[in-house]
Amino acid sequence: MMAVRKWLHYDTETQSAFCYHCCKARHMAWTKEASTWVIGGFNQWNRGLEAIGNHEKSASHYNAVAAVAVHENQSTSDQQLCQRLVKDQADARIAMRAIVTTLLSLARQGLAIRGSTDEEGNLAEFLHRRAEDIPALKVWLTRETTRTSHDVQNEILELAATKHSALWLRRSRQEVSSDSWPMRPLTLVATSKCPFA
Ligand SMILES: [Zn+2]
Repeated sequence: MMAVRKWLHYDTETQSAFCYHCCKARHMAWTKEASTWVIGGFNQWNRGLEAIGNHEKSASHYNAVAAVAVHENQSTSDQQLCQRLVKDQADARIAMRAIVTTLLSLARQGLAIRGSTDEEGNLAEFLHRRAEDIPALKVWLTRETTRTSHDVQNEILELAATKHSALWLRRSRQEVSSDSWPMRPLTLVATSKCPFA
């Protein structure tokens, strides 16, 4: 049965054969191998089978095969790690968005966020309900750090208040400086209510 030699590459232009592993190992500077299988190519076909066998059994070829295998395995692990990190980040964004929107909804409705214990509060209750429809949030809530502590709640509410205050102030200024000024300034101020004031 004929052996399949994946390392053997044939260049039709030069009509010569090259060793894939030895060429790659030299290109990556893992070896200084400079045999005819790397430089110029092998083309003495009258002793082809013998030369192929000898190269395959050589220490330099063996080392090149091992170096390429290690590198390709490493590349696969790096790729898998990278994909996992990207997914983790996407899931974290989904979970954090659900936490922030739940917290802001409770604040807008004037509902208590915390209960006598963290687990009895509205925030925890609503998040666990929403987690039934949001798998990323469900996983997130099993973490040791869920970003739902009192400090984080306060920080989110302060950021939202700052954002809404700035928006409210900007809108008020725009309306006050519009054509309606000075006809209805008091009405504008009275109806432009800051939701977190
Ligand atoms: Zn080789």
